[in-house]
Amino acid sequence: MADESAYDLVELHEKATQTRIVVIGAGIGGLVSALEFAKLGMQVTVVEAGPRAGGAIRSGEVAGLPLDLGAESFATRGGHVRRLLDELGLSDRVVDPETGAGGAWVAGVPRIGAAPLPKGGVLGIPANPFADDVRRVLGWGGAWRAYVDRLRPVLTIGHADSLGALVASRVGRKVLDRLVAPVTTGVYSASPELIDPDVAAPGLNAAITRAGSLTGGVAMLAEERRSAPGGAVQGMRGGMGALVDALVERLERDGVEVRTGAAAESLERRPGDEWRVHLAADDEDGAEPLDAHGVVVATEEGAARRLLAAHAPGLDEDAPVPGPIVDIVTLVLDAPELDAKPRGTGVLTVPGSHRAKALTHATAKWAWIVDAADPGVHVVRVSFGSASEEPATSGLRDEEVAELALAEASQLLGVTLTRDQLRDQRLERYAQSQPASTIGQKQHTARARAAIRTVPCVGAVGAWLAGTGLAQVVPDAIAETDRVRRAVLFESDAASDASGEKDS
Ligand SMILES: Cc1cc2nc3c(=O)[nH]c(=O)nc-3n(C[C@H](O)[C@H](O)[C@H](O)COP(=O)(O)OP(=O)(O)OC[C@H]3O[C@@H](n4cnc5c(N)ncnc54)[C@H](O)[C@@H]3O)c2cc1C
Repeated sequence: MADESAYDLVELHEKATQTRIVVIGAGIGGLVSALEFAKLGMQVTVVEAGPRAGGAIRSGEVAGLPLDLGAESFATRGGHVRRLLDELGLSDRVVDPETGAGGAWVAGVPRIGAAPLPKGGVLGIPANPFADDVRRVLGWGGAWRAYVDRLRPVLTIGHADSLGALVASRVGRKVLDRLVAPVTTGVYSASPELIDPDVAAPGLNAAITRAGSLTGGVAMLAEERRSAPGGAVQGMRGGMGALVDALVERLERDGVEVRTGAAAESLERRPGDEWRVHLAADDEDGAEPLDAHGVVVATEEGAARRLLAAHAPGLDEDAPVPGPIVDIVTLVLDAPELDAKPRGTGVLTVPGSHRAKALTHATAKWAWIVDAADPGVHVVRVSFGSASEEPATSGLRDEEVAELALAEASQLLGVTLTRDQLRDQRLERYAQSQPASTIGQKQHTARARAAIRTVPCVGAVGAWLAGTGLAQVVPDAIAETDRVRRAVLFESDAASDASGEKDS
């Protein structure tokens, strides 16, 4: 790399303003990437296949209420999303979830049905099997079985590759089925057998070795997390859609074109390491290709691999790993009986016990929705589908979706909800990326990144590489964009440095 301090800054600015960039995909990863390029005055065009920007952050009105229909919060970990919100002038819209509701519940527990999800564990694994809230879910037998973990020889503890195998062998099937599986299915849409504990709970394997037992390791890790800042989530008054609106507004103000209804079809490498992005013929603007000095691909994994395969040797050796399909049914209900928040902020389910995977009682979780709604009106989000199960809503007509979501919500909330209480409903389908904590996923994405990094002035961002969640995608998009920005500005000089043509 050339010595950047040797550059004429005026010349560099000039070069930046003449640099054309295309970002493919207007999810949060693509929008953040576009913002980073625009900060240097580069000419940026974002092309988005869908009718609107935001990707998995979708918002819309249901029964007159502005609601999040996909992502509804962000992890505060690392402060990355908060910094972005501050930068966009949205700090005063950041809100904490309600704590008065008590946390989430778990439903489908044999014999007892529903119970509050025990507090203080890691991925559902309890620190203390005899704590009241844990014993209530496990029963005495399950609690004793989990306690045996403390008595077993330390030497039998080795490095575990599968969370499911680790939990079953150390603390028993009841902890696995009733506590851990509801959490991993609800959070990662994947069963514990598919989860790599090193990625899902960094530090757990080491803590187990130090403590000599799984529950002891969980207690240590839970304590460390309690004292570390950022173990929480926050949301935004008016919904996370406001982040997308603010990003698009800022980008357009800075001269970035965000073009929706424009799907990138292929990438052509041009002489001089320049690029041409070909759009699908049905692009409303007549599908003129876009020429660029740099390109960032910010789509889901399948589209990214298709676009990049011809230029990144080895990228086609791994097939895209399809993630779970998840349907979120948002129900707006006249249901004053839900004012009591009967299941706290929501419910996770023991896999196989219900057709829904989880439920969020949005009006118990977010005060801003209560403020926006009429008294006694409640918003409930019922989710269907996981890595191992197609959503039960698949192929159903609207009327049938409403019936199924109402029946599941009634069961999960322990309150009968009828058709005439339903003000309106909305179903949104999402193809999630494979969670980063799935076994083998780390290596899968590392191979993809390595292949993509061989392509000059091209980068890739998004949840399939960074891991699911805004707190993962945002910082990764900033770092990857920085890499491409530097390549576009300095690479040709670096190449000439290497050939001895330029002093530095
Ligand atoms: C239901 C649901 C709830 C979630 N809840 C939360 C939450 O509460 N908190 C949290 O932090 N995370 C949450 N997540 C995860 C988070 O939303 C995602 O990890 C993140 O939004 C992904 O952003 P992305 O930019 O990687 O991809 P996406 O949002 O998927 O964006 C990719 C974009 O690329 C476009 N595209 C694809 N192909 C092309 C093409 N050929 N040309 C042009 N454009 C193309 C797509 O149309 C899409 O708009 C949730 C996810 C889902 C599905």
